[in-house]
Amino acid sequence: MKYVSTRNASRSVTGSEAILMGISPEGGLFVPESFPQFSLEEIAAMGEMTYAERSATVMSRYLDEFTYDELLAIADRAYSRFDDEDACPLVKIEEDLFILELWHGPTFAFKDVALTVLPQLISACRAKKGETDKTLVLVATSGDTGKAALEGFKDVPGTEIMVFYPSEGVSYMQKLQMTTTGGANTYVAGIKGNFDDAQTAVKQVFTDPEVRAALKKGGYVMSSANSINWGRLLPQIAYYFSAYVDLVTSEEIRLGDQVDFVVPTGNFGDILAGYYAMRMGLPVRKLLCASNINNVLTDFFETGEYSLARDFHKTISPSMDILISSNLERLLFEIENRDDKATAALMAALKSEGKYTLDLSTLRAKAGVFDAGYADEEETADTINEFFEEYGYLLDPHTAVAVAVHYDNDAQGDAPTVVLSTANPYKFTQDVLSALGEKKEEDPFKAVKALRLASGIEPPEGITALEKAEVRFRDVLAAQDIKNIVLKKAEK
Ligand SMILES: *Cc1c(COP(=O)(O)O)cnc(C)c1O
Repeated sequence: MKYVSTRNASRSVTGSEAILMGISPEGGLFVPESFPQFSLEEIAAMGEMTYAERSATVMSRYLDEFTYDELLAIADRAYSRFDDEDACPLVKIEEDLFILELWHGPTFAFKDVALTVLPQLISACRAKKGETDKTLVLVATSGDTGKAALEGFKDVPGTEIMVFYPSEGVSYMQKLQMTTTGGANTYVAGIKGNFDDAQTAVKQVFTDPEVRAALKKGGYVMSSANSINWGRLLPQIAYYFSAYVDLVTSEEIRLGDQVDFVVPTGNFGDILAGYYAMRMGLPVRKLLCASNINNVLTDFFETGEYSLARDFHKTISPSMDILISSNLERLLFEIENRDDKATAALMAALKSEGKYTLDLSTLRAKAGVFDAGYADEEETADTINEFFEEYGYLLDPHTAVAVAVHYDNDAQGDAPTVVLSTANPYKFTQDVLSALGEKKEEDPFKAVKALRLASGIEPPEGITALEKAEVRFRDVLAAQDIKNIVLKKAEK
């Protein structure tokens, strides 16, 4: 299997090259040259498998430089770190409504599903290529990717990791998780500005020839742990298959029945993995793209216009406070019939004019599986409260956005629905506590105790332990300083 760049289809690389590079030098994203197909029988056969085996089965179709056993060893190591033996368990809420819990990993958000795998893939790809330069992993995070990547790359030989988060744009627990990280190869800094500022600056560093040359001289190559990296996206495809076969095995659906997935969306990585699963043969009826009030994607799917001429809002679902959804570029590439020049032109228009417009009928014809909606702050909080009262199930604010959008959607109930749950509610303790109508608690760790009392649900130890953890990183930089920090690293 070869990979091509969305902005230069003549650039064709292997899977390991795509993973090591992270992003194509001209700024495009790597996509597989075709989608491997799974028959219904092959999907059904996954019913008997462990989660790690399901994951290795999907990954091996894309990474033919690896044997199935190599990938299984990687997946086994990754998912043995999860606190649920199913890794990504599917929970039935009521008839035809299911929650896919993707947050049982070491940092309590769905990013762990991929970021427990990616560092191992990078190490294995380095070994296969005989790479001797160190891999410098640069990460822009809206909150959850940062900690998951830090835990994944911490003290991994041959790698160093630098994480940049919006200094005022993440939850208290998210920030503390990152700034208390150990490891001799880690660096964390806050950025003045929002996630888009951090992501844009990091992407610029990637394509900056001066930085590339300096790093080369210093014995480094750059890679990315954001979902622009194929090695981040790939492990996410597996849980769509896993949820589907769990529904078949538990006789909730018959093999071949279509299912809806509702996905709380920011950078469009999670939901794109669902689209790829559908292209591989998974029976998907709808992919419902759920946004908070940063609803640029809702407007895009409704009108065909993607426009940045809007305010940026800080919300209680901060990991979705994003206006420039990087992975949408991979969908645009499919909508444009894999025309690299057309895709590059759209991305150039976004950069220069702050918007682009697709013909709505083409969008509907090529991406009709997508539907979109958004929930405002009040709806999100109300959903947390009502869902807890009704089912005794505590939603984090991101998952609550998805549930709210599901209930608002005209087509709800036409097919069994799986809502992807992306974080443990204790990552957002204070806002979840307020949503339940409890007294506001300024001290975050008192809030943890209060939420435990109000919900009867135990906080993860990794959250309560943060109270005594030492803060190691205090830098707050301007976005344009990222380049200098990376250049300094190159000189060391
Ligand atoms: C990252 C994240 C999302 C958004 O996922 P994308 O792949 O960026 O669309 C949603 N919820 C949580 C909790 C996240 O950490």
